[in-house]
Amino acid sequence: MTSPSAAPTLIAPSSAAVAADGRARTYEVRTFGCQMNVHDSERLSGSLESAGYVRADAGAEADVIVINTCAVRDNAAGKLYGTLGHLKSRKDKHEGMQIAVGGCMAQMDKDAVQTKAPWVDVVFGTHNMGSLPSLLERARHNGDAELEILESLEVFPSTLPTKRDSVYSGWVSISVGCNNTCTFCIVPHLRGKEKDRRPGDILNEIRLLADDGAIEVTLLGQNVNSYGVEFGDRQAFGKLLRAAGEIPGIERIRFTSPHPAAFTDDVIDAMAETSAVMPQLHMPLQSGSDRILKAMRRSYRSERFLGILDRVRAQMPHAAISTDIIVGFPGETDEDFEDTLRVVEQARFASAFTFQYSIREGTPAATMPDQVPKAVVQERYKRLAALQDRISLEENQKQVGREVQVMISAGEGKKDAATHRLTGRAEDNRLVHVELPAGSAVPRPGDIVTATITHAAPFHLLADSPDGAPLQIRRTRAGDAWDRTQAESCGVPAPASTGASVTADGRRAVGLGIPTLRVGP
Ligand code: SF4
Repeated sequence: MTSPSAAPTLIAPSSAAVAADGRARTYEVRTFGCQMNVHDSERLSGSLESAGYVRADAGAEADVIVINTCAVRDNAAGKLYGTLGHLKSRKDKHEGMQIAVGGCMAQMDKDAVQTKAPWVDVVFGTHNMGSLPSLLERARHNGDAELEILESLEVFPSTLPTKRDSVYSGWVSISVGCNNTCTFCIVPHLRGKEKDRRPGDILNEIRLLADDGAIEVTLLGQNVNSYGVEFGDRQAFGKLLRAAGEIPGIERIRFTSPHPAAFTDDVIDAMAETSAVMPQLHMPLQSGSDRILKAMRRSYRSERFLGILDRVRAQMPHAAISTDIIVGFPGETDEDFEDTLRVVEQARFASAFTFQYSIREGTPAATMPDQVPKAVVQERYKRLAALQDRISLEENQKQVGREVQVMISAGEGKKDAATHRLTGRAEDNRLVHVELPAGSAVPRPGDIVTATITHAAPFHLLADSPDGAPLQIRRTRAGDAWDRTQAESCGVPAPASTGASVTADGRRAVGLGIPTLRVGP
């Protein structure tokens, strides 16, 4: 097994990035699916910008539309072909528009994309994202569609130029692929066997992010705690957490997702003993029935899963634990489902992503007997969602009165403008809407606000200010980095570390070049 190259991938300027009238062509990347795909899209954007394309303004129609697809989520094919159908009419009216389809659906469907949607110009897979600019150029030059799907990874995607969506927080891949064979999952087929990046490369990327102003990183892998399997160190993930925690400037480290079977106590120790690792764990349960776990080929059992939660909570009492659960896996009986409800009740998850099982072609579960009727799946799903909503609310109510440190984020609080609030994440990743009292300084995305939780709902917390006192803000390097990006986009110098303020009617008193928050949708 050869390892993909870790050397930086250089993307040459492309003549196709320049329109006939000399302006740079614009692009838009649309992402379906998980955090992996979101991060992959940052690399697609980085590759396109290295080639000379510029991001289209919000609401403007781009010259190049890239769809980064997902094959894991429900109705992936329906969503892709629906979007492509809509884009065809746009393309007919927009001279020179190109459409590219990449990611898991492209890897899986290969030439089917071009058969079903012949107006697509480029199809590329999960292993060759860096080829996108040259494929667009070839397609434009030849006036014909280009298809390139590789069966294995040649270079680590992390070696590609990356245009990050956030300055205060960054994704960092530690591995790609997965060695497990969960029977419902298409990922090993599409992303291949696990390939681990070298620890030094990962830590360097985190250092670079910190140098650019980020104070939060999220380590990404299909199965983060099997990290090291390729180079023979079973404790590599815990060591990586500790080493990342030493990097100056990094205040918040998160990771997703660990597999319960590979979750060892040294990782819990590393989490508890590394102050920058946040008290948060997202660990997929998938089912509470041991019989179904076996059929899913998930090699842990519910007792082991609950034991990990106990040990995490013994060392980090305030850890917020979330999970993924599939309802209606083939052969799931009422009794199996009751087991899931029982484990969920015991686990006290802060939140759960719950999914109704549906067939993924190409997976072993797709051809299993005893597929559960849709009506039964839906009825169980509703019961599970209702149970988890109740538990989420109860767990959130325990937060009322707690003082938390909220890192303000951009664009997460859709109603902030109307409610005079700002939105961010507490240490445990809970979503907190913080009231912005009249006259208070305004924190920037990436700044940290000390707030006391006053109200709880199942999916968010409120931190209101009963006495109207100004916010307690810690201005951070991440907020400074946000200022710089805002100033660059306005074409004016970044201001010194000053705060915008709020007028008595709750409007932001901000001027040109003063940091602003993106509020509303
Ligand atoms: S651990 Fe299982 S569910 Fe997760 S990516 Fe690997 S095969 Fe898929």
